[in-house]
Amino acid sequence: MISGIHRPTKILVDLAAIKSNVENEIKNLKSGQKLWAVVKANGYGHGSVVISKTAIAAGAQGLCVAILDEAIELRKAGIKVPILVLGITLPKFASLAAENDISLTVGDLDWLKQTSTFLSGTKLKIHLAIDSGMGRIGFNEDDAFLKANDYLLSHPEYDVEGMFTHFSTADCHDLEYFDSQVKKFDHFKKMLRIKPKYIHCDNSAASLFNRQVDSDLVRYGIAMYGLNPSSAPHGIEIQPKFTLQPALCFVSELVFVKQIHANNAVGYGATFKADTDEWIGTVPVGYADGWQRSMQGFKVKVGDVYCPIVGRVCMDQFMVLLPEKMPVGTPVELISADAKAPNNIKAVADYANTIHYEIACLLSDRVPREYL
Ligand code: PLP
Repeated sequence: MISGIHRPTKILVDLAAIKSNVENEIKNLKSGQKLWAVVKANGYGHGSVVISKTAIAAGAQGLCVAILDEAIELRKAGIKVPILVLGITLPKFASLAAENDISLTVGDLDWLKQTSTFLSGTKLKIHLAIDSGMGRIGFNEDDAFLKANDYLLSHPEYDVEGMFTHFSTADCHDLEYFDSQVKKFDHFKKMLRIKPKYIHCDNSAASLFNRQVDSDLVRYGIAMYGLNPSSAPHGIEIQPKFTLQPALCFVSELVFVKQIHANNAVGYGATFKADTDEWIGTVPVGYADGWQRSMQGFKVKVGDVYCPIVGRVCMDQFMVLLPEKMPVGTPVELISADAKAPNNIKAVADYANTIHYEIACLLSDRVPREYL
């Protein structure tokens, strides 16, 4: 997808905020624990290469991505720290991972057997995934895990660098399910016949909210971007010990301003009809940029005024109801990096009936990222 550098729409990313979120978390780590920055999905929409470099400069010692291509992008950008692919990679691409010193996730013995045939002479770093309750990927039966351990003892093409699990409720007050996952993970740890370098389980929430689980590293995602992982709809359940600084701001400008009159409609489906004379501004952002149709009615900041989006959000443009005539070129802030602003990313997510992770990830490559 082409990046639209000739229109006044961009995402501003404050790298000092990323740095501060990483440094504060490093101070919060248990003794000896490392921070691996999670930069999958284009660094949660913030731009994976720049965010990775910033996180590493701030003290991150490794990176996590979701797919092999994301890891290769980082290697091509000259990044040397360990990189773990958290998802399942097709066996036939294992040698590509090994050649690029990229660690892959293993969820079952069949994968190990199939992948082995593609590893002629190369050694592959792997992390064993344990499904302690997320129900997504990984070993969840004792027998299968023990067999995989036996297999690994006699297959030197694998370097068992890590073993991990992922929590599904670390952001909640109720710890019952979380504790059951910890218990199951502990049980699998006891069955290990190989000693991996890194045993890991904490995501942002588990680490920030001090769940006190023993581990060698934290996979630090959403909080690095300054966003609280505890995201109950229309509220925050738990606050971390230090202030998270959101890094992302989404801006544009009015590119067209006009007056409409009583009974004139705006947008597809003519869902907004003026009762009287009104000033309407057009903003060059639409759902193709990740600004969803469900944002109709949300108030974005135009100049200093919060103005509602009227009519349906189109693919590439949306319209706002202005309090008065405003000049073309007036700044429009769709998402503010100020957590207290009415258009902060959590407020946007609440309005769209989703979570801030999704809002950030969906911001498309058509919108250029500018780093401050
Ligand atoms: N670990 C795994 C396996 C994940 O899938 C994710 C994110 O989805 C993370 C860590 C980071 O989680 P968070 O962004 O909540 O810190």
